[in-house]
Amino acid sequence: MKEVPNILWLEEIRKEDIISVGGKGASLGEMASIGLPVPKAFVVTAQAFRRFLVETSLEKKIFASFERLDVEDNEALEKAAEQAKALVIKAKMPAAIRDEIKKAYKRMDNGNLIVAVRSSATAEDLPDASFAGQQETYLNIKGDANLLLSVQQCWASLYGARALYYRARQGFDDSTVNIAVVVQQLVHSEKAGVMFTSHPISGEPLTIIEGSWGLGEAVVSGSVSPDKYVFDQRTEKVVDTLISNKKVEIIANGDHGTKLADVPKDRQDKQVLSDAEIEKLAMYGKIAENHYGVPQDVEWGIVSGTTYILQSRPITTIGSKKGAKGMSGNTSGANILIKGQGAAPGIASGKVVIIRDVKDTGSVKEGDILVTRMTNPDMVPAMRKVAAIVTDEGGMTCHAAIVSRELGTPAVVGTKTATAVLKNGQVVTVDGELGLIYEGAVAPPAAVSAPGPAQQAVVAHAPIITATSVKVNVSIPEAAARAAATGADGVGLLRIEHLILGLNKTPGWFIQNHKEEEFVKELHDGIKIVLDAFPGKPVWVRTLDAPTDEFRNMKGGENEPHEHNPMLGWRGIRRDLESPDQFRLQVESFKRLWSEGYENLGIMFPMVSHPDQFIKAREMMRGWGVDVENVTLGIMIEIPSSAIMIEDFIQAGIKFASFGTNDLIQYTLAIDRNNENVATMYNPQHPAVLHLIHNAIQVCRSYDVECSICGQAGSDPKMAKWLVEHGITSLSANIDAIAKIREAVAKTEKRIILEAARSKDAE
Ligand code: PEP
Ligand code: MG
Repeated sequence: MKEVPNILWLEEIRKEDIISVGGKGASLGEMASIGLPVPKAFVVTAQAFRRFLVETSLEKKIFASFERLDVEDNEALEKAAEQAKALVIKAKMPAAIRDEIKKAYKRMDNGNLIVAVRSSATAEDLPDASFAGQQETYLNIKGDANLLLSVQQCWASLYGARALYYRARQGFDDSTVNIAVVVQQLVHSEKAGVMFTSHPISGEPLTIIEGSWGLGEAVVSGSVSPDKYVFDQRTEKVVDTLISNKKVEIIANGDHGTKLADVPKDRQDKQVLSDAEIEKLAMYGKIAENHYGVPQDVEWGIVSGTTYILQSRPITTIGSKKGAKGMSGNTSGANILIKGQGAAPGIASGKVVIIRDVKDTGSVKEGDILVTRMTNPDMVPAMRKVAAIVTDEGGMTCHAAIVSRELGTPAVVGTKTATAVLKNGQVVTVDGELGLIYEGAVAPPAAVSAPGPAQQAVVAHAPIITATSVKVNVSIPEAAARAAATGADGVGLLRIEHLILGLNKTPGWFIQNHKEEEFVKELHDGIKIVLDAFPGKPVWVRTLDAPTDEFRNMKGGENEPHEHNPMLGWRGIRRDLESPDQFRLQVESFKRLWSEGYENLGIMFPMVSHPDQFIKAREMMRGWGVDVENVTLGIMIEIPSSAIMIEDFIQAGIKFASFGTNDLIQYTLAIDRNNENVATMYNPQHPAVLHLIHNAIQVCRSYDVECSICGQAGSDPKMAKWLVEHGITSLSANIDAIAKIREAVAKTEKRIILEAARSKDAE
């Protein structure tokens, strides 16, 4: 095999080179290869880093010091990280590597170019490579000595405390993780901004461009109201222009870093982009969208009349909050206040607001950090506003976790003590991936005009086609567009209780107050939004499944029964069968949608434990005028009994079954899914759980009945691999997990084919 050189130029790189050049390098290479004007760059490869470690004999020293490290011991972790980083920075770079970097830099612009030096993750299996420890970015670098030092500093960042902690928690072996470094021309944009290559809500061929003066960070961070332009690709015309008053811009600060400056009066109300520039940007956007197969969220910059495309990623990230877009600074020196489970990825800083009762939510302001014992559906309006969410209770499948992931808001759950330890008004930083809350605002804004964090750069892939359908879960209609933008093959679970509970009235209230039509309309309209986002693709809507305690705070909640254990109580199909009024209203909304031609609507019954329940529900629907033989009705497998009796369900006529592992695990292992005290025992891969799943899949396959998963376990690539190996027909994952699940599914499918071919060859 050909040896990978120390240096690779952008033009030589393709996305398959991710192992050598990291996510950021591969993404830039891919963009350049399709003709997008990317600022020139070369990459110091992961192999160069390895050679450096070997030739300086640092390899043994560093990894020996990590061997017995307890990463939960903050002090020891900090010490080990500091030592390792110092070793890397102080070591003498081997002459061959040094000379090649110098030579490459010279080739860029005779060694006079100002560059950005950025580390680039190479651990492609990491679920989120941005946390592998490659966040260091050095801007405004000039000259050999500064460049070489920055490269070494990037290498050292692989051993930052936060990176070590993350890898240990994820079970990665530090000694096998590499790092590449991107050296790229720094574009001091005179004007810059972002572009959505198609309309982010409707998907129409409308390119939406936002632009302002100076570096793009002013637009990305929201510190300025940018101009907005809409370009219709059908007529190739600018159809809407909105000129804003642009008071500030981010510009280079002399030789070093960037600063916020006032825009001179005469430029404040001036249009930033000419029609020709808009047209050109839209064309680049289309190239990117066509190449990647899904609408793109693009960062661009223009300097001296030259347009640069700085970054392109699927539009799925548009819903994420300011500050939630990963981070370019580092938190390794920051003080960790509390820990919990990282439930929704992203990082954000803000002021703590403690909510002890839903009545307090009025005090929640845009950008706050909402801290509470556990969120409730009636808190969703407040959850929409905040920059991050922290709870005392709960695990990965609790209400706070599910809703935060869909809102794209970072969340940490199950901290046990957040409401006691944190104080109102205190500024903290929430890391929704690692489950950490830091003191102060420690996620500095990424003041850059070139590609952003690796987290974003790594997602640029050509579309992956999988034989196993990869669908998406939706709970709130406003997430439908983001969900659809993932290119998912349909919706494997639409939880309608979130739709109803957001109204703050129980279904019983609507019935008692003769507001049935209002209830039906809300349901109909909410579901329709999701159906419209997935034309022609299956959308499985689940009938109401809210435990009684979730209704308690709402209007009508006073009539809810008090149950010792609502999780095992009157919920799901059990309640609907005994409350025909409530069930009928849901069915009425489904009927309307079917009559409007939404044939892709399927209905899924939750908490089913016996085929008789399915039969009874179907017969009730028939009685209300549903053509039950010709609509898609299926069940969730959430109770061991339904996994065990799957064959009887199939004989009763289900068209599909979907594993609700959130409940299946809790009912198989007797572990309350919302109880942080037993969260570590909540094991999706427990042999008993896998046994139930495996058997049910086999039975479904033998009858050719679609078998899916919509529990949180379906968002875990390892579990996805196992499920594909065991024959699942489709998976449904969270919006933020679709890309990695699709990749895991594709890899597994390819491997199965490859192994089959090899064993055939061997015969
Ligand atoms: C499940 O139980 O896995 C599921 C998807 O349903 P919910 O999380 O709404 O209980
Ligand atoms: Mg469930």
